[in-house]
Amino acid sequence: MNDFKKYFPFYENTVDLVYFDTSATSLKVNQVISAELDYMIKNGTNPHAIDYKKGYEGLQIIEETRELLKQYISASRKEEIVFTSGTTHSINLLAKGLEKIFNESDEILVTELEHSANLLPWIAIANKTKAKVHKLTLNDDFTIDIDSLKKLVNENTKLVTFASVSNTVGSKNNIKLITKVIKKINPNTLVHVDAAQSIGHMRIDVKDLNIDFMSWSAHKMYGPFGVGCLYGKYELLDSLEPLFYGGGMSLKIEQNLVDYTLTSLPEKLEAGTPNISGIVGYKAAIEFVNKIGIDTIEKHELELKKYFIDKIQEKNLNHLIEFYNLHNNAPIVLFNVKGVNPQDITNYLDEKFNIMVRGGANCARRIEGVINTKIAIRASFGINNNKAEIDKFVEALTTVDNFLDALF
Ligand code: PMP
Repeated sequence: MNDFKKYFPFYENTVDLVYFDTSATSLKVNQVISAELDYMIKNGTNPHAIDYKKGYEGLQIIEETRELLKQYISASRKEEIVFTSGTTHSINLLAKGLEKIFNESDEILVTELEHSANLLPWIAIANKTKAKVHKLTLNDDFTIDIDSLKKLVNENTKLVTFASVSNTVGSKNNIKLITKVIKKINPNTLVHVDAAQSIGHMRIDVKDLNIDFMSWSAHKMYGPFGVGCLYGKYELLDSLEPLFYGGGMSLKIEQNLVDYTLTSLPEKLEAGTPNISGIVGYKAAIEFVNKIGIDTIEKHELELKKYFIDKIQEKNLNHLIEFYNLHNNAPIVLFNVKGVNPQDITNYLDEKFNIMVRGGANCARRIEGVINTKIAIRASFGINNNKAEIDKFVEALTTVDNFLDALF
């Protein structure tokens, strides 16, 4: 297996550290860091200041990045992609942007597995507009149950919103089928996909999947923090009320201080100075992912997952550890050591083995409705990981039964 660690400066001084938290954020690659830094050192101007060459250079990079993203997700036009600060911002922009279309007879369908970022904005909008939020039923593998979806979608269903891949149990939804089923029953129902956990791990073709809106963060695909995107089919995106008003999106403000004219998409939803250095870094991240190939990334990560499952089964740890999601196609593993608080285990793995994994609700506050526990341990893999690290992890897990002795 190839070792992709050479791309990540993180490992230069820390041969020992095992990072299994790509779901929280992926590590950053050299060219992303240097691209972002380079812009700040060699340019540093405002991309709205297109009166001079340096400013225009920034604007050009934004549009080149948009074009790269259009190709990456197979959108129809680059104007269908709006830059935000991340998934959370994108979903809030969408929810606020749609607020005007909701009323008390409307229904929004969600799953209990959603990250708070794809749950709270909808609950807040529903509370305000008196629309109802309903839960979708899940299959045993935690994917959306199609039969119950068919029963739940009706003429009042305004929106169905769900994660492409859950950030906890890693269930991967069949977006194409879900969208087809929804649109067949009600062609006006909007479909929003939270792609935070899939954008850097698998191919997504928004046209083929027939998604109306999609949100994601650059930092989950080897890019910088503080950059994200909202994709929307042009007319739908164009109909959104802006979340922010300000410079860059205003064309004219009338003397009566009542009327105004805004620019067209995408700037219309991008008020204020953009995170230009972040977008420069994001461009480098997309180029990195394209260079490695998203299919190669997916294959590498799923090989690691399979290797992990094989090793775990070899060790026969079932009496010690409860796994919630071994059998799905996402590089995420969720488990609990029986009778022990997850955060004690994450501390133990960190202190004793330099293995970084997450413990807790992982921002999925309704997960207890799905797996009968509020908190669990999550290990997630990226292109930077290898089998030797999995070996180390599995060895560490075999010691968790006497972890109190080992720790003190
Ligand atoms: N949705 C999902 C499924 C996520 O995993 C995350 C990040 N953990 C988010 C939304 C929020 O992303 P961000 O914090 O980058 O806005």
